[in-house]
Amino acid sequence: MARSKAWVTPCLAFLGPRRSAGLCFFAEFAYSWPPCLPRRMKRYYCKRVFFIPVTFGLIMILPVLQYPDPRLAGTARPIAEITPEIRVLAQNMVETMYARDGVGLAAPQVGAALRLVVIDISGPEKREDLRVLVNPALVLSGEQIDSEEGCLSVEGYSASVTRREKVHVEAQDIDGNPVSFDADGRLAVCCQHEHDHLDGILFIDHISRLKRTMLDRKVQKRSR
Ligand SMILES: [Zn+2]
Repeated sequence: MARSKAWVTPCLAFLGPRRSAGLCFFAEFAYSWPPCLPRRMKRYYCKRVFFIPVTFGLIMILPVLQYPDPRLAGTARPIAEITPEIRVLAQNMVETMYARDGVGLAAPQVGAALRLVVIDISGPEKREDLRVLVNPALVLSGEQIDSEEGCLSVEGYSASVTRREKVHVEAQDIDGNPVSFDADGRLAVCCQHEHDHLDGILFIDHISRLKRTMLDRKVQKRSR
């Protein structure tokens, strides 16, 4: 963790798992208000308001990009070296995931085109299964299974997606140590969902064309 943030963690630990909800609300508020401003302008000032303080360790919640932002469709690049900035990014991604009651978050969702994901399928009350995966690689196996999925980048929408039942994950942790584990069930689905983000694939790319068209119409209406 960066030195500038050393005082933040004990304070946040004291405040408990919902610690960041207030900041998250503030970020949401700033992004949606005033409604008369064009989105591009809001994006500009949100970057100034939120990303600069994050650099200094003063704030932990990052705005999550929303579909159809083109940055969600890009391929993320491998992380060659785990720098202090990457550690801060990972920490902020964890805070953002917890504050939004998510079970996983990939770096491209917060505008960083890097192969980094954070996953914690426990909770929502207690969070005790955190995995920070750098450059994850998956080997899929088992049957095809259907399960309901949602995504912090496609708010207010969920759909049944077919994925493989089991997965073997090879990655590095945030200290650069190799990690590997086998997963099935919900964790396997979550690993595949987050890994897809690194290749610019969203869960809605797996749904039927009809469902996708209906979603796209809804998104278009909302953005008008
Ligand atoms: Zn997602």
